[in-house]
Amino acid sequence: MSSFAGKVAIVTGAGSGIGAACAQQLAAGGASVVVTDISLEAAQRTVEALVADGAAALAVQQDTAVAADSERVVAQTLEQYGRLDLAVNNAGIGGAPGLTGEVAPQEWDRVVSINLSGVFYGMRYQIPAMLGTGGGAIVNIASIHGMVGTPLGGNSAYVATKHGVVGLTRNAAAEYGAQGVRVNAVGPGYINTPLLAGIPDEARDLLVSKHPINRLGTADDVAATVAFLLSDAASFVTGAYNLVDGGYTAL
Ligand code: NAD
Repeated sequence: MSSFAGKVAIVTGAGSGIGAACAQQLAAGGASVVVTDISLEAAQRTVEALVADGAAALAVQQDTAVAADSERVVAQTLEQYGRLDLAVNNAGIGGAPGLTGEVAPQEWDRVVSINLSGVFYGMRYQIPAMLGTGGGAIVNIASIHGMVGTPLGGNSAYVATKHGVVGLTRNAAAEYGAQGVRVNAVGPGYINTPLLAGIPDEARDLLVSKHPINRLGTADDVAATVAFLLSDAASFVTGAYNLVDGGYTAL
């Protein structure tokens, strides 16, 4: 278990799935965690669980597609806890399935605004706050689709935004490494979270078969790598794109 005692973290989209697991692992390591979600109720549920385990946590409503929300979340974090050390830019959506030649332009814009602009808006305000206290560490949640495409049930906006998150991560890491801010990306394979709810059994079996480990991942599988990257044990790791994919991209 990594030690995050005395550290303050923001996790976006932490009302569910991977974000909630990241918030839980950071809190278990001693961090105070600002849990944001577009659904305040979902954020509050996560916070209730963290507080019941003895952690300090704050629920904040946020739409990561709105820059002013990201600025407000950082301001509320500084007001509540006085500093910001760690951030996980996790909120993301799958978007409606559709081929590139068919998808509605508004759907493209929606996915880009949350999955890519949302990660930029997060770092835009998190980084200055971290620089104010000598540095910090950020993990941006990409996907295996930051590296490979898919003709199956996804859409090209999802794949394009996740590739974008990897590029944005590398550039921010290059810009801020010397000032003590590390920035890494994580690329999960298919993870058993509400994002995959409603997938028919046949499609789920097909997805499982694409992972040599022969199962879907869990939110905790991903959170364990996120926690490592945010910890001092990863002090020489920055600009990296870390796959947690059960071997999906090895095939
Ligand atoms: P999830 O749907 O379980 O959780 C996502 C959370 O984000 C939800 O609580 C939702 O309310 C919140 N959210 C959605 N839009 C938001 C917005 N605009 N602002 C703030 N919060 C918002 O999904 P998950 O599987 O935990 O996915 C988390 C991240 O992991 C996403 O970026 C996703 O693309 C990525 N990812 C997921 C998988 C997978 O298979 N589940 C695989 C690779 C990458």
